[in-house]
Amino acid sequence: MAANRSSWMNEDLDALRDLARAFFAKEVEPNIEKYRDQHHVDRELWNKAGELGLLCLSIPEAYGGGGGTFAHETVLMEEQARVVDTSWGVSLHNGIVAHYLLAYGTEEQKLAWLPKMASGEVVGAIAMTEPGTGSDLQAVKTKALRDGDDYVINGSKTFITNGAQADLIIVVAKTDPTQGAAGTSLILVEGDRAGFRRGRVLDKIGQKGQDTSELFFEDVRVPVTNLLGTTEGQGFIQLMQQLPQERLIVAAGAVAGMEVALDHTLRYTKERQAFGRAVFGFQNTKFKLAEVATEARIARVFLDDCIEKHLRGELDIPTVAMAKWWCTDRAMNVADTCLQLFGGYGYMTEYPISRMWVDNRVQLIYAGTNEIMKEIIARSL
Ligand SMILES: Cc1cc2nc3c(=O)[nH]c(=O)nc-3n(C[C@H](O)[C@H](O)[C@H](O)COP(=O)(O)OP(=O)(O)OC[C@H]3O[C@@H](n4cnc5c(N)ncnc54)[C@H](O)[C@@H]3O)c2cc1C
Repeated sequence: MAANRSSWMNEDLDALRDLARAFFAKEVEPNIEKYRDQHHVDRELWNKAGELGLLCLSIPEAYGGGGGTFAHETVLMEEQARVVDTSWGVSLHNGIVAHYLLAYGTEEQKLAWLPKMASGEVVGAIAMTEPGTGSDLQAVKTKALRDGDDYVINGSKTFITNGAQADLIIVVAKTDPTQGAAGTSLILVEGDRAGFRRGRVLDKIGQKGQDTSELFFEDVRVPVTNLLGTTEGQGFIQLMQQLPQERLIVAAGAVAGMEVALDHTLRYTKERQAFGRAVFGFQNTKFKLAEVATEARIARVFLDDCIEKHLRGELDIPTVAMAKWWCTDRAMNVADTCLQLFGGYGYMTEYPISRMWVDNRVQLIYAGTNEIMKEIIARSL
């Protein structure tokens, strides 16, 4: 069967794919077990990626980035999925945190942070979720109250990707706690500010190599110039504008994961023997993998259409919500179907299919749960 080349691919992206593939093979794949054991990637991975130009791929060159597009970020994600790594929070750093700065940062903020994010000197995180609220972002309790030329931040965040390694955290906080969405602002907090404390790296069922953490803010003072942008109360609008790209990133990771799961399972079932024949020879295996191949193809076509629209600035919020819930839902189903075809070996952590099964699960939860995605879609119907 001919491989389905994405419509948005081109020669420039082919070259990036080769570079990224070599990087993941050399720097990431041999270390995945170590990352899982220590619950974080090695800090210098970020610097090595920065040296090769793999960070901030879609940030303009004027700010130290690669001058590429979302297609460049997608190629990087696909190559990460190929080695079945979920430890390195690079898609959040590149595709989410850097884009908040690019879209809303003042010129000083962009020049201060983006070149360092591109070199790997600074690792980025975004802290929305709190122990008491996730889906209902208007209800965040963290406060950033103005005191002279400073904001004083108090509150706590949880489930924060890159939380243990982040040098710069975009914190969702209320600058006017009497308001809901209208009182919400995004504040830049440097990791070495007094009163800022990282909690434990959370013990998750999957994505074991990712340093998902709790963060605490106790009278953390930052200058008012750390407000992202120049106007208070814009945070909710900024989140609503950036969340579609975050959701497209999750959908892209899900689709890449489906393709990788299919690839691994085809190879395994064609080698593994039972009752004197390859497991692939059983009609059940062939039918299951025919279904997986079909779903992966449908997901890819839908995703590529979303990416094309996003590259043209035409992707609407309900459509990306469809991509996020459906692709992650099907990716979970694909991982489960494929794991079954590995038999007992599918349950062993040394087989990447086991990691896909457990790591995929969170895709239905983060970046807005799949129930919230359906709410968004239903509102547009
Ligand atoms: C590994 C991991 C990494 C993460 N990384 C980050 C990060 O970097 N930054 C960050 O800020 N957050 C991060 N999160 C948090 C994630 O975005 C939230 O967990 C998610 O938004 C859900 O919030 P919650 O956990 O509070 O669930 P809740 O909001 O309490 O939801 C519980 C259940 O209720 C359902 N529900 C809620 N509201 C509705 C509704 N209106 N209609 C129907 N059902 C509803 C939900 O769908 C869910 O099933 C991460 C989470 C995980 C697990």
